[in-house]
Amino acid sequence: MQTHLLGYPRIGSNRELKKACEHYWADKISLNQLLETGKTISLQNWKLQQEAGIDLIPCNDFSYYDQVLDMTLTVGAIPERYQEIASNESHSELNLYFAMARGYQKNGLDITAMEMTKWFDTNYHYIVPEFQKNQQFRLFSDKIISEFIRAKEAGMNAKPVIIGLLTYLLLGKEKENGFDKMDLAQNLLPVYLEILRKLEAYGAEYVQFDEPFLALDLNEKTKETYQWVYGEIRKQFPNLKFIVTTYFEGLKDNLSLAVSLPADVLHIDLVRCPEQLDEVLQAIPGTLSLSLGIVDGRNIWKNDFEKSLALIKKAIHEIGPERVLIAPSCSLLHSPFDLDLEKNEAILSPEIKQWMAFAKQKVDEIAVLKKLASGNPDYHTLQLLAENKKALENRKVSALIHNQDVKNRVGAITDGDARRKNSFAVRKEVQQKVLQLPLFPTTTIGSFPQTREVRNWRAQFKKGELTAAHYNELLKKETERTIRWQEEIGIDVLVHGEFERNDMVEYFGEQLDGFVFTQNGWVQSYGSRCVKPPVIYGDVHRPHPMTVYWSQYAQSLTQKWVKGMLTGPVTILQWSFVRDDQPRSLTCKQIALAIRDEVKDLEKAGIRIIQIDEPAIREGLPLRKSEWQNYLKWAVEAFRISASGVEDSTQVHTHMCYSEFNDIIKDIADMDADVITIECSRSQMELLNAFADFKYPNEIGPGVYDIHSPRVPSKEEMLELLKKAQAVIPAQQLWVNPDCGLKTRHWEETEKALIAMVEASREASAVF
Ligand code: GLN
Ligand code: ZN
Repeated sequence: MQTHLLGYPRIGSNRELKKACEHYWADKISLNQLLETGKTISLQNWKLQQEAGIDLIPCNDFSYYDQVLDMTLTVGAIPERYQEIASNESHSELNLYFAMARGYQKNGLDITAMEMTKWFDTNYHYIVPEFQKNQQFRLFSDKIISEFIRAKEAGMNAKPVIIGLLTYLLLGKEKENGFDKMDLAQNLLPVYLEILRKLEAYGAEYVQFDEPFLALDLNEKTKETYQWVYGEIRKQFPNLKFIVTTYFEGLKDNLSLAVSLPADVLHIDLVRCPEQLDEVLQAIPGTLSLSLGIVDGRNIWKNDFEKSLALIKKAIHEIGPERVLIAPSCSLLHSPFDLDLEKNEAILSPEIKQWMAFAKQKVDEIAVLKKLASGNPDYHTLQLLAENKKALENRKVSALIHNQDVKNRVGAITDGDARRKNSFAVRKEVQQKVLQLPLFPTTTIGSFPQTREVRNWRAQFKKGELTAAHYNELLKKETERTIRWQEEIGIDVLVHGEFERNDMVEYFGEQLDGFVFTQNGWVQSYGSRCVKPPVIYGDVHRPHPMTVYWSQYAQSLTQKWVKGMLTGPVTILQWSFVRDDQPRSLTCKQIALAIRDEVKDLEKAGIRIIQIDEPAIREGLPLRKSEWQNYLKWAVEAFRISASGVEDSTQVHTHMCYSEFNDIIKDIADMDADVITIECSRSQMELLNAFADFKYPNEIGPGVYDIHSPRVPSKEEMLELLKKAQAVIPAQQLWVNPDCGLKTRHWEETEKALIAMVEASREASAVF
């Protein structure tokens, strides 16, 4: 029995890589200093695994920005617009690489970055490969080979990790019409063969191909291409050992394909899909070994040793220990670095901490599981098993986690709780009487610029350099200024500006029971950017109102309506580490009840318009289409539970950032928000078509101002967008607003843009 890892986090235990990259980009350190930092981190990672007793140690899982971009550079799929940099001798390979990742604006050149998108259903973003019809490939960067050599020289039993050929193609985008990227496999294969030839020559024994797409819906052509590609690879390399990895889903209908590939090891995700083990053991041919992904690479909880041992023993029983490997479910890229760094007991209490494991601890778990499974574990290992059992027992019954009132309340939710008192048609009339809004009403999405000043106040307050009272006064002034300014330029529905919030999830998590935060639980999001997701460890409960103070204060300043501003249950769930001891849907319901209470309290406080943001609802969609309905059912229901406690006269808004709505428009309509604001301006209102085709009955605010850019749109441009909107959606249904919150913008551009936006709305109601 062997142990291995699919990959390890590379940002460094104290985010050293983040800092080094950013310093390099700012010309504060040299290329060599950056490279040294990278080498040090990967060496530390290898050593840590080696010392823990891991058998096969991944290399080339390290990356300065993104592993998909690494592959793009490796196979020379460099888009035309970077040719000038690529062919200029004075640029290092890494400069070209960063130009592709981040764009390049220097020395008279102005080249846009490559697109970025989410890595499957994680919060990690990869750089999307770009393919042309006659895309050529060649071995451009030898990073894989040099990393392997370095790992070997460091005394590692190194296993190079490569994104599988099919997965690489499937991750990419066809940049012109008239071809199918699957056909590029022919051109790409020789480069893969060349890489393998080199690796073999330098003494590689194992090579890992990441093929997560094998666990997703595949068409026939792709399945055939899988067969062909791996058949060709095997023909040329009868002696290399290939590990094909799948993760984030079960193999399901691709099982026979996966086990028929001429690989040596197949890795499956038994955290996401433990039920697939039996089927896989049944189907697996005698030539194939099985890597069991049993330690959760996507969450921060301790592994349940007894449960894992049962799975390992089952596999050993069926196929023998020589053919079993033990591993985390996926790369530990998605786990924070090291729990030992969480030393502040006031932030993370020892009781909760003992239930958790970060990447470093997960490596140890794998090693211990191997010892436990191979029979005759020593005294120390048995002690670890006992400790594990005790920690899990403690967690199961902990009073910190379980709140019977919350459980009872969730159990008592009725269909009626998820339904407004009357239909939208009825509500619309009541609301119009109360709210008296004009045609094309204007509003914003919630946040106003978080200036350096505002962020400094918060930092000082947290450090104790500002008293709570003083901090509060400063925020009040900023809020008042913002309210006055919105009144002055004539916005119809005002917002308070969200100056008191650091982040739209963290702000609520900090006030809800059942959430805990870490000091150093960073996970790479993209490039040098990291996020520190809150941890939901227990039953979620709202001990006190969270936003009423600010909304009420803002409303007291003005005769106009101020919109209350909340984050929705699905988004709070989606952007946190969640409990693994109950279904996500149940946790989501608990959060929904907390938000519902907040909505009601806002209403009681005289807030007539309340927005519940759900930007993450679409990204929460399962990877397999067959699971969509189940997810959408509980996600939409959770939103409705949060929104439905109020009178007909209270207007509920929701907001979503850039999404394709076509395939889920029915479910969006089911959310039954009185008003939905969406990001739309970059698509030139194209995203609205889904709503138009569906004859979406409620009100819609398609964004007319692209807030991701410092550019100020003109009144004419926005009027043009409104015209387009009005051509497909009746004017009575339309709102006028930016694409998203303004917190990353500067006041100067925000002011100009919103003034023009208000003018555009006035003109629209006069003209249309
Ligand atoms: N209300 C939030 C804001 O304006 C919404 C942010 C979001 O959709 N991502 O900042
Ligand atoms: Zn948004």
